[in-house]
Amino acid sequence: MSFKPSKLMVTRSVIVMTALILALSIVSGVSLVNIMIIKGEEYQNDASEQQLYDSLVTAPRGDIYDRNMQILARSSPAWTVYITPNGIKKLKEDEAETVKKKIAEGLSEILELDYETVYGYTEKNSYYVIVKKKIEKEVADKVRQFLLDNEDLELTQYIGLDETTKRYYPNGNLASVVLGFVGSDDQGLAGIESYYDNDLTGIAGRVVAAKNAAGTDMPFSYEKVEEAIKGKSLVLTLDSYVQYTAEKYLEAAIEANQIAERGAAVVMNVNTGAILAMAVKGDFDSNDPFTLSAADQARVDAVTDEEEKKSLKSELLNRQWRNKAVSDTYEPGSVFKVITASIGLEENLINRNSSFFCNGHATVAGQGYHCHKAGGHGSQNLLQATSNSCNPAFITIGQLIGVSTFSKYFKAFGLTEKTGIDLPGEATSTYHKEEKMGPVELASSSFGQTFNVTPIQLISAIAATVNGGYLVQPHLVEKKLDDSGKVTETASTSYKRQVISETTSATVREIMQYVSENGAKNSLVAGYNIGAKTGTSQKVAKIQATGDHYLYIGSCVTVAPIENPEIAVLVLLDEPKGDKYYGGVISAPVNSQIMADVLPYLGYEPSYSAEELKNMTFNVPETVGGTVAEAKAKISAAKLECKVVGSGETVLRQLPEAGSKVISGGVVIVYTEEGGSEQVTVPNLVGLTPTEVNSLAASAKINVEFSGNTATGGLKSYKQSVEAGQSVDAGTVITVYFRDENVVDG
Ligand SMILES: [Zn+2]
Repeated sequence: MSFKPSKLMVTRSVIVMTALILALSIVSGVSLVNIMIIKGEEYQNDASEQQLYDSLVTAPRGDIYDRNMQILARSSPAWTVYITPNGIKKLKEDEAETVKKKIAEGLSEILELDYETVYGYTEKNSYYVIVKKKIEKEVADKVRQFLLDNEDLELTQYIGLDETTKRYYPNGNLASVVLGFVGSDDQGLAGIESYYDNDLTGIAGRVVAAKNAAGTDMPFSYEKVEEAIKGKSLVLTLDSYVQYTAEKYLEAAIEANQIAERGAAVVMNVNTGAILAMAVKGDFDSNDPFTLSAADQARVDAVTDEEEKKSLKSELLNRQWRNKAVSDTYEPGSVFKVITASIGLEENLINRNSSFFCNGHATVAGQGYHCHKAGGHGSQNLLQATSNSCNPAFITIGQLIGVSTFSKYFKAFGLTEKTGIDLPGEATSTYHKEEKMGPVELASSSFGQTFNVTPIQLISAIAATVNGGYLVQPHLVEKKLDDSGKVTETASTSYKRQVISETTSATVREIMQYVSENGAKNSLVAGYNIGAKTGTSQKVAKIQATGDHYLYIGSCVTVAPIENPEIAVLVLLDEPKGDKYYGGVISAPVNSQIMADVLPYLGYEPSYSAEELKNMTFNVPETVGGTVAEAKAKISAAKLECKVVGSGETVLRQLPEAGSKVISGGVVIVYTEEGGSEQVTVPNLVGLTPTEVNSLAASAKINVEFSGNTATGGLKSYKQSVEAGQSVDAGTVITVYFRDENVVDG
């Protein structure tokens, strides 16, 4: 066990200060980076000048696991190299010079530091100067070898290695915005690492100086008092597979729709509030939080002015660390109509058969509102009005509800208070206070505009509308474990209150299922019944500030299985710059992709309709090495067609390869002779129906896999994984992406 003179007091105050600054920066947007990067060096110097005679033994930080005990963060051993310049000062002048030069030469090479810098450390007036922190074992071994090689100079008197720990995140970016990261002293600076810093931080062992060593030959002499105790480990509600799935599809959508201001996807258990995934992209690698994405770094590099460069870097770092699902607010837009409908139902002001007439516009207290459908939706019941996302209908519902009742439920759904999720920096919502809410504010609030909530508030409120009416507390930590792995605390489901009745909740589920099947078709998942509502809101504040009128947030919430919901998914994409921006067009496909992977994983068996089966994908079986007859049997059993090339007996090669996914009726080509394969040209598969794509693919001798829901009519392909005109082997699988581009969500 090694120990060192304590920097306890100074270090602690730096930690406290850093934590405070972090808290402030998250809330107020004040730059944390400035303090950490620019001032960090100063703090560190102050700290290492302190000479106290009480010392600490580093305690390992607790680990972080996902719900299946897969490791998300752990601490592994690392070493801090320090020197004691005041020891060197006691040597004769020429001997001291030899030692200083040797130290500077050796350590600069091993630790990849500048010779002058290390030499400078040897001249300081201190017993403890850190040369480098957190070096790995192999580098520490090199330092030890260097000490052995220079036994004659007794360098062990002046160079020391403190064993400490280094935080390691084996999955890099996975859930980085949730996990956060640690600072140079392993203090949690963001995310779970910060929120649970007290639990994760161990209790340092303690060594008290037996004598004041200043002015004596031996710099320090100690006796050990207490052993270090490892911090508590945390088991999260996150599921690595669900998290990975959410991040994968979110990232693809951000790229495809040219999203300028990042996106978020939250997967929550509607009955317990357990967060299964909280994906935010662009994010960062928790192992390396101060590195920007290539695109952001390019922006910084393009700036020539040094001050501006620094400030842009700081801004972009703060942005990549920010948890968009918790620390940012937005106008939910039409997704909120589900909540308005539930209030009207609960108060018996409307029912599922109530009729709403829309002639295309409405006027409230002199303020005019247009429906997104010019000419209006005509007469519609509640299910249709919600599916049509008709603003005039929801203005009417808002008027029936009235300001006082609306405000009462807005509060009951948790939209006026923080959810209390166990993460730092949760933002507060902004909304019209009851006493300041007039008919105009009521009208816009009824269809989800002119107030701002966090995504985590919204998904919690939506969960309450479908789970029987209960507002539950969203949370990320399921269990705390002590050093021996024993559970010391377990999160219990925390019901805040029942907001609506079971009966009202059942009607909301019916409405949401109707919406998914009629209005939000891109959210559908083959084999499952789900509920959905999409929304598109303008970023009013930023539009007013910048004059740019084309700033939107497209979002979609889905719930499944709708008969007895367990999972809610909320996806939001901030500032699409592509040609589509409606939540129902850009976000709903992400909801569908996440649900399609996650529902079977969670044990929900799909049940396909005949129409769904037609466009389903099948796994290509392995036929290589077997006989042609075996290949034919396997391929036919997989509902695919087999085409044999060559006259041999044994299959040498196949296309597509085993494990590929192709549409029912796709062709697997098996080769029984050596030789080149047939080359074909990829046709243009964009802007077509599934049937058209199938027929074109067959005649071009390629296979296709469909992405996006293709079970309903009106869908068009919008992307293909291999560009038209490319030359590929016959049988190659090309993914074709479908969506309903006629969706409009007001
Ligand atoms: Zn309308």
